[in-house]
Amino acid sequence: MRPFELLEPSSLREALGLLDTADETVRPAGGGTALMLMMKAGVLEPSRLISLRRIEPAWAEISQSADAVEIGALATLSAIEHSGIVRSELPVIARTLRTLANVRVRNVATLGGNLAHADPHMDLPPVLIALGASVIIASRGAERELPVAELISGYYETTLASGELIVRVRVPKQFARFSAYRKITTRSADDWPALGVAVALDREGPVLREARIAVSAAFDRPLRLAAAEAVLRGASIDDEAVLIHAGDAAADEARPIADERGSAAYKRELIRVHVRRALRDALDAQGGTP
Ligand SMILES: Cc1cc2nc3c(=O)[nH]c(=O)nc-3n(C[C@H](O)[C@H](O)[C@H](O)COP(=O)(O)OP(=O)(O)OC[C@H]3O[C@@H](n4cnc5c(N)ncnc54)[C@H](O)[C@@H]3O)c2cc1C
Repeated sequence: MRPFELLEPSSLREALGLLDTADETVRPAGGGTALMLMMKAGVLEPSRLISLRRIEPAWAEISQSADAVEIGALATLSAIEHSGIVRSELPVIARTLRTLANVRVRNVATLGGNLAHADPHMDLPPVLIALGASVIIASRGAERELPVAELISGYYETTLASGELIVRVRVPKQFARFSAYRKITTRSADDWPALGVAVALDREGPVLREARIAVSAAFDRPLRLAAAEAVLRGASIDDEAVLIHAGDAAADEARPIADERGSAAYKRELIRVHVRRALRDALDAQGGTP
């Protein structure tokens, strides 16, 4: 591994100042779990890492308002998994984190690093997209908010400009919306997924008002499946045929990319089956227990 300088600023402001540089190899470090693997493999050779671990603890806090949960980008995945607020308001996130990597990774990996890494196989981005979450991004002297769906732009690519940091994630409270995530693995339950399917359903009595379906590990980024969502709009929740129809529509519109966990044809079949099952999970659990 190429030698690099490690700086540990004690405030967000200082970190943003250090990141405001013409040297594009300077990188922020959250938990460092993804960075270290890329550096050891030689695919990333930063001249300097700006560790965020010593910045104000407020950037790791999890709080709630009347209509949203806000999670600081420095919160570890374990802290999110065990947060009382997340478990009661967004149980699908707590459930998803239980099979993400292992407890050693979750104890140090941060939410900001998780989203900025943009590996298309990651579990959390499709869930956050289905829940309608957004990221708050800071740079020196400015702040902007962006839907998670617009943050990840391609294979390990984001729309973050250099010098920008994810500082918070805002997830709307789900109230009457029901959600589920299915992680389909070909080895152990906590392996990287061969497919990830997240769904969130809004119902009014027996009728589905809106559906969001986000799929990962099948494309160069997590994507929503609009044709399958359209099938569900206005449908009856008691109509099992609609769920089958939505799974078929998802498989028809998807253009999966093969990887070491499956061919494109295999992933298409996984999409057909697991979109339907994820919809059933969401309707059965109706929010579920964390
Ligand atoms: C053994 C192992 C198994 C894994 N299995 C899974 C799995 O099953 N499912 C899954 O989803 N993931 C899995 N992962 C990936 C894991 O989720 C990520 O490594 C982790 O979430 C990255 O978070 P981090 O804080 O360590 O990021 P870092 O390694 O610190 O950073 C990752 C990237 O984000 C940038 N960055 C960091 N913080 C910020 C910020 N606040 N703003 C902007 N950019 C930032 C860094 O510069 C870097 O480019 C696994 C990882 C390992 C090591």
